[in-house]
Amino acid sequence: MTTLRADDVDRFRRDTPGTEDVIHLNNAGSALPPTQVTDTVLDYLREESVRGGYETAAAHAERIQGVYGSIARFLGADAADISVTDSATRSWQAVFYAMRFQPGDRILTCRSEYASNAIAYLQVARRTGALVEVVEDDASGQLDVADLERRVDDRVKLIAITHVPTQGGLVNPAEEVGAIAERAGIPFLLDACQSAGQLDLDVRRLRCDALSGTGRKYVRGPRGTGFLYVHPRLRERIEPAMLDLHSATWTAPDRYEVAPDGRRFETWERNYGLVLGLGAAVDYAMAVGLPAIEERVTALAARLRADLSQVPGVTVHDQGRRRCGIVTFSVAGIDAAEVKNHLSAATINTSTTHAESYQYDQEVRRLPAMVRSSVHYYNTEDELRTLVETVEKLT
Ligand SMILES: *Cc1c(COP(=O)(O)O)cnc(C)c1O
Repeated sequence: MTTLRADDVDRFRRDTPGTEDVIHLNNAGSALPPTQVTDTVLDYLREESVRGGYETAAAHAERIQGVYGSIARFLGADAADISVTDSATRSWQAVFYAMRFQPGDRILTCRSEYASNAIAYLQVARRTGALVEVVEDDASGQLDVADLERRVDDRVKLIAITHVPTQGGLVNPAEEVGAIAERAGIPFLLDACQSAGQLDLDVRRLRCDALSGTGRKYVRGPRGTGFLYVHPRLRERIEPAMLDLHSATWTAPDRYEVAPDGRRFETWERNYGLVLGLGAAVDYAMAVGLPAIEERVTALAARLRADLSQVPGVTVHDQGRRRCGIVTFSVAGIDAAEVKNHLSAATINTSTTHAESYQYDQEVRRLPAMVRSSVHYYNTEDELRTLVETVEKLT
């Protein structure tokens, strides 16, 4: 693996005009895209406006198809296993709502599960009589693999967890979960929305049956894009809850056939400019190198946690054996929203967390409202120092 050097980082920052204007530490919300991404989208939209939407899509058909190959290489998958959608949520829903549950079937998830996923479990549990169970965390704060293993039996019909939660720097042990799920023959659905683009993901290593991600976060793609991987062994077993003339073919007046590949989880209409922008973002990330990105993001965040912990009154809240680029903290006596506003006045972009979005986690952690500063490989040590100094001045 090649480690990123200072001149590499300078080059990436030159590719990212936003780095001149703001200290962007909200990469878990929506990262700054490289110029290559923005130009790809704008060029395409301009071409559509003078050439016609269908004509432009036809002229770029091969490039558009190439996006599937890019995402497949990014995840260690085959292009046929990839779907392109408009968000991580749409991707995740396409798989989850395709699954059929009976009364008493069990769905196992994690404490740090994403709110939208938890809401979907509750809805489906209410409709079908399936049961939702939250696997405990271990002492480090990651999913307790032993507790998961104890719960597995033939009534468990789905294991679905969040790899990296929106509310902290934890990395759940997805590979160990994948090994357990595969051994038991239970579908494993991984929400990789926060890990894709900052960690080096490989679906063969993760042994997941399905993985969902978004374009705008660590992948640095445009908003309104998402992607999905589904292993053929799951894809062949499930039919999407909703179909159209793209995900299926009307083969006779009383018959249809569902698309054999990842198209079955898509719909016909899409913004091809954004699709190409997502492809450009994925290609850019792979040119930088996923292992190198992971190394730098993890190191910068570890440094930021250490420096913030030195500031009197500041508590860093991230947990887990393995941690990533998301750093959450609170300042004694000062509301998180106030800290965030103070930081934005100094052109430092961060975000805040909301306890109602992580109810399972909150049951045991009882966290205060937190500031979330999420670093990317294009951030610098100087920027992190500025963040710490700005927080210091507040306290
Ligand atoms: C942001 C997020 C999502 C949702 O992604 P969208 O693209 O907004 O649908 C899902 N899971 C996690 C863990 C997230 O942080």
